[in-house]
Amino acid sequence: MPTLADLQFDNRFARLGDTFSSRVLPEPLSNPRLVVCSEDALALLDLDSDQAADPLLVELFAGHKVWSDAEPRAMVYSGHQFGAYNPQLGDGRGLLLGEVVNQAGAYWDLHLKGAGSTPYSRMGDGRAVLRSSIREFLASEALHALGIPTSRALCVTVGDNPVYREREERAAMLLRLAPSHIRFGHFEYFYYTRQQDALRQLLEFTLDTCYPDCRNAENPALAMLHQVLQRTAEMVARWQAYGFCHGVMNTDNMSILGITFDFGPYAFLDAFDARHICNHSDHEGRYAFHRQPLIAQWNLACLAQALTPFASVDELKAELANFMPLFEQHYLALMRQRLGWTATREDDAEQIDALLQLMQASGADYHLTLRQLAEEHPLVRDQFIDRDAFDAWRQQHEQRCDAPLDARQAANPLYVLRNYLAQNAIAAAEQGDFNEVRRLHHILRQPFSPQAGAEAYAAAPPDWGRHLEISCSS
Ligand code: AMP
Ligand code: MG
Ligand code: MG
Repeated sequence: MPTLADLQFDNRFARLGDTFSSRVLPEPLSNPRLVVCSEDALALLDLDSDQAADPLLVELFAGHKVWSDAEPRAMVYSGHQFGAYNPQLGDGRGLLLGEVVNQAGAYWDLHLKGAGSTPYSRMGDGRAVLRSSIREFLASEALHALGIPTSRALCVTVGDNPVYREREERAAMLLRLAPSHIRFGHFEYFYYTRQQDALRQLLEFTLDTCYPDCRNAENPALAMLHQVLQRTAEMVARWQAYGFCHGVMNTDNMSILGITFDFGPYAFLDAFDARHICNHSDHEGRYAFHRQPLIAQWNLACLAQALTPFASVDELKAELANFMPLFEQHYLALMRQRLGWTATREDDAEQIDALLQLMQASGADYHLTLRQLAEEHPLVRDQFIDRDAFDAWRQQHEQRCDAPLDARQAANPLYVLRNYLAQNAIAAAEQGDFNEVRRLHHILRQPFSPQAGAEAYAAAPPDWGRHLEISCSS
């Protein structure tokens, strides 16, 4: 097995040069400690779990050492934030350390978040706090375990450096993995700054590295948009089906790969609430749970705008029109799976909506209700206020629920990264005890099967944990 020291780099993005990124070295954390490490993420780099115990891991991922073959760069991009164009964003507190090629030939970007200030830091300090780094780590690995496309997280380190937010906190770093860190906002940046050659270069690069099969299409840019749209539709369908609210769907937080990206004030639903707003700073509810599909389509339109030098407006519009039907198709398929309906019927959407409305009216817990329904648990009825209405719905459901029990269980997680569970783990970590973060991470690796001693993690939140508010950038 290779060790951390043996990783092979091929820094394709860095080779695009200074138009696309700036060379920056990480600013190390003082007295760094490892908070948590993902064995599954290590394996993506062909690394054994024992590498988590190697002191080199902390040195590398707390910014003390950089491989001689890595070329740390801060990427430049822009994007639409809450609907308004911000011409100057970029990696303000993260660095693309380099691109690792594993033994199978797969590329993984190593991105160190919280690595200090860069030319794109604007007023920020370039740091990430422990709490938000733990939240991104847990969510990345939990979404992956649920089958939701996402960036991955390899580890979190924490240092003694104070960071000032609403209160004094500790600086931390998160090592994120993704096959690419190109965002919709990369295309927008070169489009709106009218750098046409660079925009074309970015397109070529993205086709080569992410969408090589689009090269053969009559119009590769249009073919790429088609694939980005398909992947994004599937990703958002999974968010909706599993009750995940991203919270900051700005175009700079949208991956060109259609993976969940840049975790901030996200939340999994507790009680079902279609209009749930998880971002404390989202006063108008732009990124409310039920608006996510619409916003994804709006964001894809921003990407399409940046592709107008390569395709006609009519062609791009025709492509965008595919989004909602594709989303619906994926969403209904996932919900049928969750409900154990193997056959497709015309009134599927109506029946699913009827259940969600009953949940909404009763404040029923989204995950618990679906799991109990899958297990034909007698207590599921207690989730509802209008029990007659639920009984009537269930009668229809029972007539068509024909998937085997194990298939239904495999589609309905028992363990979900509820905000209060993350909060408990963060509170302990802030006191220097990382056991709860590690335990929660471990449980969320296998969200569908019961684990001994983990019963409490499958319960609905206690009263204090129901309405936690999470602020935006931290
Ligand atoms: P986010 O809300 O995390 O997606 O960040 C939006 C933009 O603000 C990105 O360009 C980030 O790099 C930048 N940013 C967020 N927090 C900081 C910080 N503490 N220091 C510098 N830049 C930051
Ligand atoms: Mg971001
Ligand atoms: Mg961010």
